[in-house]
Amino acid sequence: MTQRNVERVVIAGGGTAGWMAAAALSRLVGRKLSITLVESEEIGTVGVGEATIPTILTINRLLQIPEPDFIKLTSGTFKLGIRFENWLREGEHYLHSFGDTGKGSWAAGFHHFWLRARELGLAEEYGEYCTELKAAEAERFGISSEHSLNYAYHLDATKYGMYLRKMAEASGVKRVEGKIATVELCPSDGFIEALSLEDGQRVEGDLFIDCTGFRALLSEGALKTGFDDWSHWLPANRAWAVQSELSEAPKPYTRAIAHKVGWQWRIPLQHRAGNGLVYCDGFMEDDVARQLLLDNVPEKTITEPRPIRFTTGQRKRYWNKNCIALGLSSGFIEPLESTSIHFIQNGIMWLLMMFPDTVIEDSTVQEYNTKLRAEAEHIRDFIVLHYTLNERHGDPFWDHCRNMALPDTLTHRMELFRQSARVFKPQDDVFAENSWVQVMMGQGITPAGYHNIAQALSPEQMTAFMKGIQHDVAKTVGSLPPHGAFVQTLLQHANTRDSLHLKS
Ligand code: FAD
Repeated sequence: MTQRNVERVVIAGGGTAGWMAAAALSRLVGRKLSITLVESEEIGTVGVGEATIPTILTINRLLQIPEPDFIKLTSGTFKLGIRFENWLREGEHYLHSFGDTGKGSWAAGFHHFWLRARELGLAEEYGEYCTELKAAEAERFGISSEHSLNYAYHLDATKYGMYLRKMAEASGVKRVEGKIATVELCPSDGFIEALSLEDGQRVEGDLFIDCTGFRALLSEGALKTGFDDWSHWLPANRAWAVQSELSEAPKPYTRAIAHKVGWQWRIPLQHRAGNGLVYCDGFMEDDVARQLLLDNVPEKTITEPRPIRFTTGQRKRYWNKNCIALGLSSGFIEPLESTSIHFIQNGIMWLLMMFPDTVIEDSTVQEYNTKLRAEAEHIRDFIVLHYTLNERHGDPFWDHCRNMALPDTLTHRMELFRQSARVFKPQDDVFAENSWVQVMMGQGITPAGYHNIAQALSPEQMTAFMKGIQHDVAKTVGSLPPHGAFVQTLLQHANTRDSLHLKS
């Protein structure tokens, strides 16, 4: 334990992580802090990260960001899930939606009843019983008091960062422009004392948040925290990103399209699309990957393709001494399930809950690290699941993914489901049971059994049960407007006089 009182917080880096932390800490800690954010315009941000998961609604609500303004200022659209194309086999697809599917009992989820109904020849496809999934397929979306869809957003992350910056500065955060040259450590305990900038400025602090992206200047560069490398489970280590025009109404879902090596994302905003290819350089040359992406973007590109390099894994400690790594500086799993912005938010939420009253306690640091590691490892397992269950035989990259050794935790969850259809959500897993069910079945696992409780329904009762759910789903989906039309309606409600309004 150190005896420094935490009064001055220094955030290094002004990407999504930096400004999200600045906005949250300046508004939600509950006591007055002096917060300084250092960023370098010349270095810039990673410039990707446009798809989210539903947890983003929580931080937006805590920060009191009105949804219409948010949609307007970030060129946002709504997201009901991810459509995985060619992942199991070429030409096949499934949707991982954010919603619940059907209705289960306390003892067994809906999929147990669905498996029984299917055995009796009484079930349609699993997705037919999920409102969000059917709405996504129908490209419909709406928010009303009569139904509540689970949804997230597609957004322009740069504009979101600008929005959060205005909010943070309005709450007293001081922004310092400049390049960090050195991180000064206290000789006695190794804690960070100050950041020295190239232009001679010196920024002192008690608590430092490392949001310097893949550089991890504080947590790795200065504190040598160490890194758990996960590339033996998640071998992708390169991406090309390019923006394009959008020639169709924005779809309310992200597309993740598997190719011979890796996969392509397609994220529709209001007037453009974000596109990218994630791949492993051991299986494909960079220029071949670049061309593969360009060949598969249907519209005119509006930016030059940008290369990004990464190593999948996590920092050994998220909180080390008086430094918390947030965002890409803390590690990177994979953009496949759009979890990075969520993970930033998660780090911030735990920090808000554990923010030092006075000094930094070792027990708090330990608890913070335990929680974040557990959640990161669940997300890792979920993403590895998509890769390893492929049946793309003959593609060396996919053969490698199918045959690689897996984390024990994942092997157990797959076996449990395969044998008994059982799936339980550990406390720190952001993905609910239905997410695992959709992906495990979408990637080809057919459970050998199901819970006995599903036998309790007679064939007549089962027919009525399944048809009733399908009817409710169809009724709700039929009542929703087209997604593009809903976005336009919402834009008309945006408060253009809001002081946080930004020019696009
Ligand atoms: P950055 O955006 O890199 O910001 C780093 C900041 O540090 C910048 O302000 C920079 O100027 C500053 N900095 C660095 N060095 C210095 C220095 N010496 N001096 C001063 N300042 C410095 N996430 C999602 O949630 N959804 C997605 O769909 C998604 N897709 C992704 C696709 C790819 C290929 C990748 C790589 C990531 C993706 N992510 C996604 C992750 C997402 O992009 C990041 O989590 C998010 O942008 C936060 O980045 P960051 O703020 O940690 O880092």
